[in-house]
Amino acid sequence: MSFGERSGRPNRRRLAVSVTVYRVAIEVPLMALFDYLPPCHAANARPGLRLLVPFGRGQRVGILVEIADHTDQDPARLKAVEAILDPRPLLEPIDLGLIKWAAGYYQQPLGEALFAAIPTRLRNPAALLDDRVRGVVATPEGQAFERARLTRAPRQRAVLDLLRPQLQGVSLTWLIEQLGDCNATLRALRAKGLIADCRLEPERVPQTPPLLPASDAPQLNAEQTLAVSAIAASRGDFRAFLLDGVTGSGKTEVYIQLIQALIADGQQTLVVVPEIGLTPQLRERFRQRLPGPIAVVHSALNASERERNWHLAARGEATLVLGTRSAIFTPLPRLGLIVVDEEHDPSLKQQEGFRYSARDLAVRRAQLAGCPVVLGSATPSLESLHNALNGRYTELRLTQRAGRAQPPRIALLDIRDQPLQAGLSRVLRAQMQAEIAAGNQILLFLNRRGYAPVFTCHGCGWVGDCPRCDVHLTLHLIRRRLWCHHCDWSRPLPNHCPECKGEDLRMLGRGTERLEDDLRVLFPDVTIARIDRDSTRRKGELARLFGAAQRGEIQILLGTQMLAKGHDFPGVTLVGILDLDQSLYASDFRAPERTAQLIVQVAGRAGRAERPGCVVLQTRHPEHPLLQCLLTDGYRGFATAALAEREAAELPPFAYLALLRADAPDAAEPLAFLRQARLLGEGLAEPRVQLFGPVPAPMERRAGRYRAQLLVQCAERRLLQRILRSWSATLRALPRSKTLRWSLDIDPQDML
Ligand code: ADP
Ligand code: ZN
Ligand code: ZN
Repeated sequence: MSFGERSGRPNRRRLAVSVTVYRVAIEVPLMALFDYLPPCHAANARPGLRLLVPFGRGQRVGILVEIADHTDQDPARLKAVEAILDPRPLLEPIDLGLIKWAAGYYQQPLGEALFAAIPTRLRNPAALLDDRVRGVVATPEGQAFERARLTRAPRQRAVLDLLRPQLQGVSLTWLIEQLGDCNATLRALRAKGLIADCRLEPERVPQTPPLLPASDAPQLNAEQTLAVSAIAASRGDFRAFLLDGVTGSGKTEVYIQLIQALIADGQQTLVVVPEIGLTPQLRERFRQRLPGPIAVVHSALNASERERNWHLAARGEATLVLGTRSAIFTPLPRLGLIVVDEEHDPSLKQQEGFRYSARDLAVRRAQLAGCPVVLGSATPSLESLHNALNGRYTELRLTQRAGRAQPPRIALLDIRDQPLQAGLSRVLRAQMQAEIAAGNQILLFLNRRGYAPVFTCHGCGWVGDCPRCDVHLTLHLIRRRLWCHHCDWSRPLPNHCPECKGEDLRMLGRGTERLEDDLRVLFPDVTIARIDRDSTRRKGELARLFGAAQRGEIQILLGTQMLAKGHDFPGVTLVGILDLDQSLYASDFRAPERTAQLIVQVAGRAGRAERPGCVVLQTRHPEHPLLQCLLTDGYRGFATAALAEREAAELPPFAYLALLRADAPDAAEPLAFLRQARLLGEGLAEPRVQLFGPVPAPMERRAGRYRAQLLVQCAERRLLQRILRSWSATLRALPRSKTLRWSLDIDPQDML
C-alpha cells in the first residue's frame, strides 16, 4: 500500500510549507489524517463537511477535519479534493471535537470513529445529506409545455398542473397524498424532460404535547427537590453529578422534571441507558410526561429509522434523545443536559472495535458543551463513587423509596445440606406458595440461560465442549442443540455418546429453561414466564412479557440479568436469587463489584409499590465477606470496603489500566507479539508505568483463536496516555503475520 497523502506520521518532521490544505479523515484503519488541496470551488468550506477525495486508485468519502495553512508533504504531490458533497457540515465543531477527543483517548483511527458516528448511508458518495426530502419540480420545458398536448394522458396533465405553480417543487409524499400512486406517471414525465427530481428542505417536525396532563406529575419529596434544584442551578455550566438513589427512589422522576424545564427553555437533553431493552419502557414514560418529538437511537433500529432520528436530533427539533451507548455521539445543537442512567452498567463500555465508555464520554461531552451531566444509579460504580468522594462529582442522594414503597429485606438462605427441588430450598418453596396464595408475584433470578450448562456421557465421561473455545456447550432442549455461548457454534443434540456410543447421556446443573420446566411441575396451576435472551428473541416479545408482568398477569417471573435492569414490577413481593456462588469466587478484580451490584439491583425489583418486598438469596457460602458486608452495611458499606481494597492493590479508580490484547489461530503467536510489545514498552523507560504479562487470557481459546494479554498500569492518566500514544505507534509499525490481530483497550472493563 502506498498513501502519498499521509500526514502526521510520527518521528518525521519535514519542513512545513505554507499552503492551504484540507486535513481529511477517511474510513481506514490508520491513525493519520490525509492532506489534500482545496477543490476549485471552496468558498466557505467548514470542518464537518463530507468530501469526495481521490484515494489510492479510486475515490473515497472523507470528512473535513481541519483547514490548515501548512503541510508536511510536498505540496506539488498533493491531490485536490474532487467535490464537496453537502451544502452544510454534517457535524458541528463541537461534535467533531468530541469524536476527535474520543479517538485520541481510546487510540482509535479518527476516520473510523467519525464514520461510526454518522448514518451509514452517508458513507456512500452518491447519498445526499438528506434529511432533505425527495421531491419533483417542473423543468423550464415543463413550464412552457402546451397542456393540450397531454389530453390523452390525463394523469400526466394533472401532475404537471399541480407542479407548475410550485416553483420550488413539491415533496413526493405530498404528491402521492394528492394523486395516489403516481410513479409510472412521474417516470413518463421525467422521460419527456418535463419534470426533474429535486430535494426540498424538510418541514419542521412540530412539537407534540405530553400524553398526560401536567397535573399528573407526582409531588417531589425533599430529596428529589434538592436534587432537581442543585442540577438546575448549574445549567449553562459544566458540572458532574452522581445521583445515588436506591431503586425506586424516583431518579427517573428527577430526570423528567429537569428535562421539562429544559424543553420549556428550548434546550435538548441526551439520555443514555445501557440496554436496548430499557428504551421502550423509558420512552413510553417520557412520552407521557414530556413534549416530543423524542428521538430514539440504538442499534436495533433499522438504518433509515436511525437516520431519521439522527437528523431530528441534529436539526435541533428532538426535545430529547434517548439511546444506548452509541447515542453519545448524536449531534445536538441545543444540548443542555446529559443523563446517564444505570451508570454502573458494564454495557456502557463498547467491548470491541472502538472501545469507548459512553459514561466517561458523557462527562467529557458535558465539559465540551458546558452543561451539567447526571450519572444515576442505585449501585454507583466504584469509579464514580470515588469521584464523588474526592469532590470531582457532586453527590446527590435519594435514600428513600418514592411514594409509599418500603425497602426490601434481604435474607441469606444457607442451602448447604438442604434438599433442593428445582434448585429451590424448602424454605423458599414454602415462601413462594404463601405469596402465590396471597395473589402476589414472584421473581426468580438465575443468571444462566439454556437448559443445562453441562452435557455429559455417564458411560465414558465425555463432555460436550466447544471445538473452538475453552468452554462446555450449553444444552438447549427446546431447540434440541448444544450451544456455545461464546462463539455461537452449535451442534444437534446427539442421541448417543459421540465417543463410546453409549446412550446414558446426562445433563448437569440448571439453566433458566430447565428451571421453567421444573417450576411448571412444582406449581402446576400458576402462570409462569421466562425472560432471557432466548425467550425474547422475537421482536416485541420482551415488551409483551414485561407488559404482562407489570399488569400482574404473570405470577412467577424467572430469568437472567435481563430482569435485574431498571424494570419496575410493582406486584413483586418476593425475589429469589438462586445461584450466585460462582461469581463470589471469580478471578476478575471487578467481580465483587459486579456481584454486589447484581444482588442489589435484583433485590430492588421487589416491593416497589405499597406491598413490602422480601429477597431470599440462596448460597452455600453465607459467611462470605461480600455477602455479610452487603447485608449489614448495604451497598454503600460494601463499596467503601471495596474502594479501600482497590487502593491497597493500586487498582482502578486509584490507577489507570490499559489492556493490550492479541489473538491468532496459533497459541505461540500472540504471546510472541506481546513479548515484543513488552520490550518496546520497557524501551520507553518510564518507571511509573508498569507492565504485567503477557499471559494467556482467562479463556485462552475463543472462536478458534488463542488469546493473550499484557496489562499496563499507571497511577497518572496523562502519563499513561502519553506513553500509550508512542507505544501504539511503534506497535502499529511492527511487522507481523496476517493472522495476528491486536487491540488496545483503554480503561478495560472486562479482563476476559
Ligand atoms: P428510580 O428511577 O429511582 O428507580 P422511579 O422514578 O422509577 O425510580 O420511581 C419509582 C416509582 O415511584 C415510579 O412509579 C414513580 O412514578 C414513583 N414516584 C417517583 N417519585 C415520586 C414521588 N415524589 N411521589 C410519588 N411517587 C413517586
Ligand atoms: Zn461415552
Ligand atoms: Zn465456542
